[in-house]
Amino acid sequence: MKSLQVKMGPRKRIALVAHDNKKDELLQWAKYNAGTLKNHQLFATGTTGKIISEALGVRIKRMMSGPVGGDQQLGAKIAEGKIDVLIFFWDPLEPQPHDPDVKALLRIAVVWNIPVASNRASADFLISSPLFHSDYERNVTLGARQ
Ligand code: PGA
Repeated sequence: MKSLQVKMGPRKRIALVAHDNKKDELLQWAKYNAGTLKNHQLFATGTTGKIISEALGVRIKRMMSGPVGGDQQLGAKIAEGKIDVLIFFWDPLEPQPHDPDVKALLRIAVVWNIPVASNRASADFLISSPLFHSDYERNVTLGARQ
């Protein structure tokens, strides 16, 4: 059984994504936590990243918009070990045209054992954890895969 340890430093690489009906909620969360988020490296899908970087005046590495490939770009970064945390406010009440991509992003985050927050309460718990600002080694189990 192949497994590996992946180190995360105190400065986390955080991916931010919100579906349209959830963008305001994520923006409010990001504004509230702006002081903390500024100490980390931020990534986002296109529109989410634009809204948050303009409101907070922070640099965010933006992917394409989610429905045209941004979710997949973030998923690839997770698999490459380049994202440590996923804050993804997905919409449970509206169907999304890119639902397969949404599912794939959530799935790959579980495969690589990165912390994921899907709503404000879980994002609050995550960002207030002492582990958010310290070293952490996560165990990744890949089974028989190479
Ligand atoms: P967006 O993409 O930030 O470009 O709106 C988010 C998504 O729908 O996955």
